[in-house]
Amino acid sequence: MPTLFRDGASRGLRPADQRPLLSLAPRLERLPFAPLCAVTPVEPLPGFGERVWVKRDDKVSPIYGGNKVRRWEWLLADAAQQGAKTLLTVGGLGSTQVTSLSAHGGALGFRVKALLFDQEPSAFVESAQLANLRFGSACLRSGGYISTAARATLEFARARETYFIGPGASTALANLSYVDALLELKQQVDLGLAPKPDSIVVACGSGGTAVGLALGSALADLEVEVIAVRITEPFASNQLTLRALAYRTERLIERHGGPRRRRPLRLTVEPRFLGAGYGRRSPLAEAGAKRFEECFGVPGEWTYIGKALAALSLLAKERPRETLLFWNTLSTTGR
Ligand SMILES: *Cc1c(COP(=O)(O)O)cnc(C)c1O
Repeated sequence: MPTLFRDGASRGLRPADQRPLLSLAPRLERLPFAPLCAVTPVEPLPGFGERVWVKRDDKVSPIYGGNKVRRWEWLLADAAQQGAKTLLTVGGLGSTQVTSLSAHGGALGFRVKALLFDQEPSAFVESAQLANLRFGSACLRSGGYISTAARATLEFARARETYFIGPGASTALANLSYVDALLELKQQVDLGLAPKPDSIVVACGSGGTAVGLALGSALADLEVEVIAVRITEPFASNQLTLRALAYRTERLIERHGGPRRRRPLRLTVEPRFLGAGYGRRSPLAEAGAKRFEECFGVPGEWTYIGKALAALSLLAKERPRETLLFWNTLSTTGR
């Protein structure tokens, strides 16, 4: 039976009542929430000069970090409230979402089941599968995209007490987490712990991270452009899909007492680093993955972070006068 703790402070986590988002939309307090995250450091990014900083969401949890954990605080609490005992999800063989859900769902006492579609083999894909095994989730290889979608539909239709989390997990509820994360950054900037960035560079898969950050900036009147580095096919991450996500997330905030946005969303899609598609390697992405290891001391990979870091390297040159913040979405813990 899943157990959720409201008080995270005793475990070094940020307690539920210390979410900056609650001061913006107080009635969000009524939604179920399971603290899993620590406040993440913001620091200069080594090797990039003085204008480039990094927000260390790779260290958001010692169990397994990265950008999915903030989502689980909302989604897994919602699952528990609905009486679910099993979490069912879908991802590629090396999916960080699957590993992250295996780690955190398992730690809260859920049974975690994942259907894994084929992906180009790599050292990272192998290590992800080992981690899934270690975290005790039930992973099943399901072939290509189409057979995986069919299999997931069938599994879910037959399942009981099961909460389904789709690829990317960017629902309106989940996206609240990165609105809150932006407000966390703003607090750090206000305290003088980091300069206010002109732009935030972040990998964009299903878009919830980039959308939450852009929405948070607009709601908090922080002049920041969010550069969403596309790592999935254009049909999955384009201005239309991102605006639709933003719209649904904004309505949810408004329904809970939040303000109406007065500023335009400053959200740019950076399309130059996708290469042949999601999970496909390219020389730039491999160089980015190597750079990740130099910066953070843990192997990178080319599906997400290699492409994002390659984009950051180029953008730092193309925008010599801007202060840039790299939002690190790939876990450096629990691997
Ligand atoms: C999921 C993931 C992303 C993409 O985040 P979205 O919110 O789906 O756009 C980026 N980087 C890493 C490491 C991820 O696991």
